[in-house]
Amino acid sequence: MATADEVRSRRRSAEDTLADALTRVEAVDGRVGAFLEVTPDLAFQEARAADARVAAGEDLPLAGVPFAIKDNMWIAGREATCASRILRGFHPPADATAVSRLRRAGAVFVGRANMDEFAMGSSTENSSAQLTRNPHDLERIPGGSSGGSAAAVASGMVPAALGSDTGGSIRQPAACCGVVGFKPTYGRVSRYGLVAFASSLDQIGPLTRSVADAARVYRVVAGPDPLDSTTAGEDPADPESAAGRGVRGMRVGFLVEAEAEGLDDEVARNLGEARRLFESAGARVTPVSVPRAPEAIAIYYVVASAEASSNLARYDSVRYGPRPSCRDLASLYVESRTLGFGPEVKRRILLGTFALAAGYYEAYYGRAMRARAVLSHDFASAFEQVDVIVCPSIPTPAFKIGEKTEDPLTMYLSDIFTVPASLAGLPAITVPSGFSKAGLPLGLQILGPRFGEEPVFAAAGAFEREIALPDETPRGVRT
Ligand code: GLN
Repeated sequence: MATADEVRSRRRSAEDTLADALTRVEAVDGRVGAFLEVTPDLAFQEARAADARVAAGEDLPLAGVPFAIKDNMWIAGREATCASRILRGFHPPADATAVSRLRRAGAVFVGRANMDEFAMGSSTENSSAQLTRNPHDLERIPGGSSGGSAAAVASGMVPAALGSDTGGSIRQPAACCGVVGFKPTYGRVSRYGLVAFASSLDQIGPLTRSVADAARVYRVVAGPDPLDSTTAGEDPADPESAAGRGVRGMRVGFLVEAEAEGLDDEVARNLGEARRLFESAGARVTPVSVPRAPEAIAIYYVVASAEASSNLARYDSVRYGPRPSCRDLASLYVESRTLGFGPEVKRRILLGTFALAAGYYEAYYGRAMRARAVLSHDFASAFEQVDVIVCPSIPTPAFKIGEKTEDPLTMYLSDIFTVPASLAGLPAITVPSGFSKAGLPLGLQILGPRFGEEPVFAAAGAFEREIALPDETPRGVRT
C-alpha cells in the first residue's frame, strides 16, 4: 500500500499525509457529501502518534493511512449514529475491534462516513443526515449502504475505508463508484462495536483503490476475537501475496444463473470481456451453476428483516436515543421510534416482526432459513467444480438520485448479485471492470468458498492486472 509504505520508510510523514487528505476533503466533499463528520484534531493526534511509532522503529502495516469509517462502527472519542436520528449524540464506550486493529497498525481516522440509516438501503438515500453523490456523476447515487465510504475512496479523499456488508453494502457501492470492495467470509472479522443490523449476515470489510490494498486492510482486521463468539480461528494466511500470484490453471466458473437473469446489455458485454481476460491470463474458464441463486433476494429480505426487527428492539429511548417527555412507557416507545426511525427502517421492523409472529414463523422465517441452507449447499457443490465463481456486482450502473426511492422493491433488486454470497457466508470481492457508455463504473464480482479468501484475491489481482484500467480522477471531483 503506497501510502503506508511511504510513511514506514519515512519518505513522508503521517502528519503531511493527513494534511493532504484534509485538503482534498476540503476541496471536494462539499460536492460529494461522503463525510458526516471530519475530525481533524483527533486525526492529527493519531498521525503524530503514528510518526512517533515509526521513528521508534515499529513496523506498522498501515502507518499513517487516512481512513474513512462507516458511521455504524465505534471509534472511541467520536459519535456513532448509523445516520439515524435515534442514535444522535451516542458516544460509544470503546473502539470496535476492527477499528482498534487498524489503530494498532498505524491508521489515522479522518472521519465518519455517511450511510443508509442502520445500513438498510442500496443508495445512501436513507441517511437521515444528508445525500452522498457519486463522484463519477454527481446526479447519481454512490450505491449503499456504505455509500460514504465508497465515495470517499473513489474521489481520492482517503486511500481506504471500512464498510459493512449485510447483503452487498460494501460490494454494491464499491462497484457503483469504481473502487475495490471486499466482504470477508462470515466470522473472519469481529463484529464487536459494529452496530447490529442482521447478525448472521453482517461483516466488516475494506474499500480501497487496489486489490492488494484491500488484502492488506483485510489481513489487519481479520482474526478471532474473544469479544465476538462468531469469529473463526482459521488462519487468514497471506492474502496480499495471493493477490500477486496469478490465475494460471485456476478453475474460474462463470455463474450461469446470473446470465439467465436477462442482463443489461452493457453489463453482459462487460462480463464477456472479463471472460476473455481470464482466459488470456491462463485460467480455465467454465460455466458453473448455483440453481437457487435466483431465490436469494426473497430469502434475504425475510431473514435480514427478521433479525433487524429483533436487533432494533433495543432502541426504546430508555438506553439510547432522545427521550421525549411522555406520560407512560408505551407512549415513550411510540413517540421516540416515530421520531427516531426513518421510513425504510420502520418498513424492515414491520416486515421482520410479521415474519416472526407466532402464526407465520414457519411459513416465512422457518422456510427462508431452510432455503438458505439449501442455497449454501448449492454453493458447496459448485465449489467442488471450480476455485472461484464470477458474476457481475451490480445489475446496472449507478442510477439517478430519487429514481428508486418510491419503489422499495426495485431498490431491493440492486442487491441481486451480492446477496447470495451473504446468505452463504462466503468471501466476495468487487473489482472495477470498466465503464458504461455514459462513463459510469461497472464491477466484476469474484466469490470463493468459505475461508477461501486466497483464491478470491488471486483471481481479483490477476483480473486487475489484466484489465489495467487507467487511474483517472472521476469527472465529478476534478479540481
Ligand atoms: N441493500 C441491502 C439492504 O438494504 C443490503 C444492505 C447491507 O448490506 N447492509 O438490506
